[in-house]
Amino acid sequence: MTEDAWKIEAMKAKIKSKSTVSSMLHKLMLDEYKDKSALRDTKHFHPSELCKRDWCVRQSVYKIMGMEESNPERPKAFTTLNVFEEGNLIHRKWQNWLNKAGVLRGQWFCLECEHQWYGENSCPECKSLQVSYREVPIYDDEHHILGHSDGHVVSGDEEFLIEIKSLGMGTFRYENFPLFNKYAKKEITADQMWNELTRPFLSHLRQGNLYMHCTGIHRMIFIYEWKASQAVKEFNVVYQPEVITDILYQLRGAIYDLEANMIPKRPEWIDSKDHQACKYCTYKKICWSSDDESTSKVQSEIRYPEETGGSDAGSAGADRRIIRR
Ligand code: SF4
Ligand SMILES: [Zn+2]
Repeated sequence: MTEDAWKIEAMKAKIKSKSTVSSMLHKLMLDEYKDKSALRDTKHFHPSELCKRDWCVRQSVYKIMGMEESNPERPKAFTTLNVFEEGNLIHRKWQNWLNKAGVLRGQWFCLECEHQWYGENSCPECKSLQVSYREVPIYDDEHHILGHSDGHVVSGDEEFLIEIKSLGMGTFRYENFPLFNKYAKKEITADQMWNELTRPFLSHLRQGNLYMHCTGIHRMIFIYEWKASQAVKEFNVVYQPEVITDILYQLRGAIYDLEANMIPKRPEWIDSKDHQACKYCTYKKICWSSDDESTSKVQSEIRYPEETGGSDAGSAGADRRIIRR
């Protein structure tokens, strides 16, 4: 063995892969996550959950009713919390750039006089620029929807909402499994998978349309950032009410149930408690121990096939509400 080879072998013996720093920080991150979760509203439906492929209306109603979680959420792994934080940083980066460009509108908080307002970034009370961006409030009283959109941009004649998405492998696995599977089987590279993305994922389209429905701003630009290379794609989308018709229909049914103190039936596509959607549901025990037939009026539910292009067979009219700011 050469002298260099000996040195490399000696170095390898000294290097141990051990998660010292991440272990040190994990508890702090878990505490922060718990504090943020405690502040989250539990009395409304949130677009981020409504748009998911496996959204269960019954689970949302349990939460709104304040039912005890019989199957509490497990502590998040360090990697999961790290993914959340990275996503937050990417959001802040784009919002900061848009703010510096002078085109960002939304809810602001003045750090000097504590005034809150909707609009441009200087405080109308004290003229301060020491302000904090609180994004775009989303609210629809009729459907009990509450949330926030990432941004509202006004530039010359252009006006649109923005939705920033940082994409990793997990995003492709969850949102477009057929495409991810081609990568998993080594038929395409990771960059080819990214290149094959030519439109927003269906769940993002549903989320965006809910935001457009609630704000009355009928154009949205999705900013997709690929975490592997920081490559960016933009998708320009206009309001398509048919994409969210069935979500709004289900919400009206759920509100009827809530007012009558009833629990909605389980979605038709959940055929047993072993279904993937129920696996980590915090209400699994109570849900599957109750008598389903005694719970609610019949509520038909339409489930989107994965990546079908965003249209559905819902027939109820889209009763658009314009609730701005
Ligand atoms: S256990 Fe399954 S069916 Fe029941 S509320 Fe949870 S996700 Fe819905
Ligand atoms: Zn002020």
